Amino acid sequence: MSITINEEQCIGCGRCSEVCPGTLIEMTAQHKAAILYPRDCWGCASCLKECPVGAVRFFLGPDIGGRGAVMYTKRNGSITQWIITKPDGTQTVLETDSRAANKY
Ligand code: SF4
Ligand code: SF4
Repeated sequence: MSITINEEQCIGCGRCSEVCPGTLIEMTAQHKAAILYPRDCWGCASCLKECPVGAVRFFLGPDIGGRGAVMYTKRNGSITQWIITKPDGTQTVLETDSRAANKY
């Protein structure tokens, strides 16, 4: 299970590096995020949620019941869109609202 980071999209904000509980992501001298230990990633998706430009991609492989789809996120206020692109190119978009988490 692992993520990839699109270097061209990365704006160097450092958020993914700050939130990774395993300290797996470092900022390079060129101010780009790089995952140093992809095999150690356990897929908590924290970096995915924090990236403001959708540069972090999460591979949904067979090890977690996926079929090779790729997921990234878009944020708009409290709303997070989880955009899943399947190998055949079709997309599914799920939305979560962080305000709802405080209801319970
Ligand atoms: S998914 Fe979680 S463990 Fe993996 S790199 Fe991102 S923040 Fe770290
Ligand atoms: S959160 Fe996104 S834009 Fe910010 S450093 Fe990480 S990959 Fe780059």
